Amino acid sequence: MSSQPFIVKPGDNITLSNVEQDCKPERIPDYTGTFQKKGETKKPLKKLNKRLLKLQELLYAESKHALLIILQGMDTCGKDGTIRKVMAGINVQGCEVVNFKVPSSDEIARDFLWRAHKAVPKKGMIGIFNRSHYEDVLVVRVHDLVDESVWKKRYQQINDFEKMLVENGTVVLKFFLHISKDEQKERLESRINDPTKHWKITEADIRERSYWDDYMQAYESVLQKCTTQWAPWYIIPANRKWYRNIVITERIVETLEKLDMNYPKPNSDVSTLYVD
Ligand code: AMP
Ligand code: MG
Repeated sequence: MSSQPFIVKPGDNITLSNVEQDCKPERIPDYTGTFQKKGETKKPLKKLNKRLLKLQELLYAESKHALLIILQGMDTCGKDGTIRKVMAGINVQGCEVVNFKVPSSDEIARDFLWRAHKAVPKKGMIGIFNRSHYEDVLVVRVHDLVDESVWKKRYQQINDFEKMLVENGTVVLKFFLHISKDEQKERLESRINDPTKHWKITEADIRERSYWDDYMQAYESVLQKCTTQWAPWYIIPANRKWYRNIVITERIVETLEKLDMNYPKPNSDVSTLYVD
């Protein structure tokens, strides 16, 4: 197992049906290896959330970097739940979530990256994209919304765009939440059976499910063509929500720690200050 579990390396050949969606203990890399049951991650997740809060404060104080987290996956894969759990306890003032829906007439009249670029976080901030510019090579490809000659060029355009962001101080983390088709069935059924979840389900969700294999193919292209040294993709086993949460939180904490951030020096000599 690589020292960076779940990362997709440039050149990796991805067949999603062979990539872990559960969290079978024997397949878990060393340092998450003790987590085999739901309850076991509660305490460590709380600890990680506390570390994340401190790191977020440092990110804000230093204001040299921004962090952009991109979440993608099939319907019900847990993008909303991840945002709720992973960001539990961070300072909401320093975090912005942006949802990417069907483009408006204003958005469709521009290049596909326009709305993404407008939404990237400022330095000091954490930005979360719930779906993203990747929809323009996913749903758009699966449903032929533009010509193949158009979407094919987008992989490189996305890589160039993300490189520009990184070179300008934005750290980019991309998580594909990998659930199985059976798990999606259960989650959709539980939405149908629970009146308090009806607002979460539409006919479109059921319809999209019938394109599962096309989506998997489109995701495989994204993961292979758009994992880069500067903005890697991670494939997160997401059938178990508790496992997904701890793995993603670990990746975020680890990434922020590597930035080696420091509190800025005060602009006056604090030792001479006194309070009446
Ligand atoms: P949800 O995330 O469930 O609120 O649904 C948002 C919907 O918007 C999904 O079905 C996406 O596939 C769709 N969507 C997002 N971006 C695009 C895009 N660029 N072109 C077409 N549909 C999109
Ligand atoms: Mg949906």
